[in-house]
Amino acid sequence: MADTKYIFVTGGVVSSLGKGIVAASLGKLLQARGYKVTIQKFDPYINIDPGTLNPYEHGECYVTEDGREADLDLGHYERFLNIPTSKANNITTGRIYQNVIDKERKGDFLGKTVQVVPHITDEIKRNIMILGKTRKYDFVITEIGGTVGDIESLPYIESVRQLRWELGKNCLCVHLTYVPYIAAAKEVKTKPTQHSVKLLQEQGVQPNILVLRTESELSKNICRKVALFCNVDEDAVIQSYDVHSIYEVPVVLAKQGMDKIVLQKMGMSLDSQLDLTCWKKFLENMKTAEKTVTIGLIGKYVELPDAYKSINESLLQAATYHKRKLDLRFIHSEKLNEKNVAELLNDLDGIIVAPGFGQRGIEGKFVALKYARENNKPTFGICLGMQCMVIEFARNVLELSDANSTEMEPNTPYKVIDLMEEQKHLIFMGGSMRLGVYDCKVEKASKAYEAYKSELIRERHRHRYEFNNEYKKQFENKGMKCTGINPDTGLVEVVEIPELRWYLGTQFHPEYNSTVVKPNPLFMSFIEAVVNN
Ligand code: GLN
Repeated sequence: MADTKYIFVTGGVVSSLGKGIVAASLGKLLQARGYKVTIQKFDPYINIDPGTLNPYEHGECYVTEDGREADLDLGHYERFLNIPTSKANNITTGRIYQNVIDKERKGDFLGKTVQVVPHITDEIKRNIMILGKTRKYDFVITEIGGTVGDIESLPYIESVRQLRWELGKNCLCVHLTYVPYIAAAKEVKTKPTQHSVKLLQEQGVQPNILVLRTESELSKNICRKVALFCNVDEDAVIQSYDVHSIYEVPVVLAKQGMDKIVLQKMGMSLDSQLDLTCWKKFLENMKTAEKTVTIGLIGKYVELPDAYKSINESLLQAATYHKRKLDLRFIHSEKLNEKNVAELLNDLDGIIVAPGFGQRGIEGKFVALKYARENNKPTFGICLGMQCMVIEFARNVLELSDANSTEMEPNTPYKVIDLMEEQKHLIFMGGSMRLGVYDCKVEKASKAYEAYKSELIRERHRHRYEFNNEYKKQFENKGMKCTGINPDTGLVEVVEIPELRWYLGTQFHPEYNSTVVKPNPLFMSFIEAVVNN
């Protein structure tokens, strides 16, 4: 196998330009030419991982198969490339420093003063190369979080500078910037891009390719001007203008030959063919869909769509495969009550109750679930959403009034959801949930089996509380069945009410495992039920 090639994606001017989408799209193009690609993200913040972060900070916390709580961009990487990421794909400054400090305490630095350069940068470089050293990939794309010029990004940019020197042609730097349109002047402005590239150059990194984020397509002249000011070839100034869907971005980049430019600059052959057939078929379905499915997502971070990113994308993928447009409505669980529930939920074709933590907004979820159950609306509960299904059923069908999860009410008389045994003595909150992929044995006579067509499935988890098996008989006698069980621990993974159209909750998170070319079977089954309804 030839040497692994390393591509760095940095960002400038402002955050939220979609660096993750550009990295994922470039990865997609290289993969569509037959190369093996992985994408990793280095986050400059000091948290060890995003697991302890409030969704208001960085949106959803994603979970890898091997149980790393990770940045939501890893979700994009998986959805675009259809290959799993792992612990090695997301590293934070906190982890880098922790490793270096652990080594220092062990005495590994042999009396030397431990410094940002070379010790922190060496540790960053070592981590950047981990996946490349497995020799499983032709390309390792590394997205550097944050924006060039941030104090906390400096050691990363310095590491990129050093690696470019060491790797020569096997290394390439893509810089993403913003070209704003100034309405009063009726002009687009390239100055912020020029400044951002200067900043990068001051730090010793000359970008090879620029991606300009813009609202509308830019003229050739603008691109020429940017090329001139930034020491970049004219054809290597690529634009990424606004499109309806993030899944169109690979096509936009391909049109401008970004994949070819990368191959050329890395001294690689251009013989491979770019095959985006499946991808384009998906886009075509998205464009031609006429009918709509209206889904209500009930959660407490509704003003922040990134908080439920993977659920949004899984729903969109499943809707697209059913040739439907997705009308996703966010419904604030804190605002739901007995009086307004019918008005707010009546028009929906289906309901999803979101995952989450803590008491806030929980009573609204019970109100929604009671309405959905009594009105036979297709309903999907995920993690906390599934736990809420169980609690609502206990209160209103089993007549165990005040039944609850001990997460919400430690002294509840009916602990239908309770802390897992192994969680009881934990002191550290970070990285200590039941995380990552676990087996689940699915009962044959169930919606879950109909969806997966398999008796053994594997999905990802992120929780501390579980269904209390002491109540299992009572639930099953009254019509809520436990149709998915972990074969090793007996932990309930799926509950269903078979009498209803589609009323199913999962303790696991199927949304972490749904990609453009392989939508998750449960989301497909849910949308199918919605469409058939
Ligand atoms: N708070 C619940 C638990 O820890 C559910 C977690 C979740 O929805 N991810 O078990």
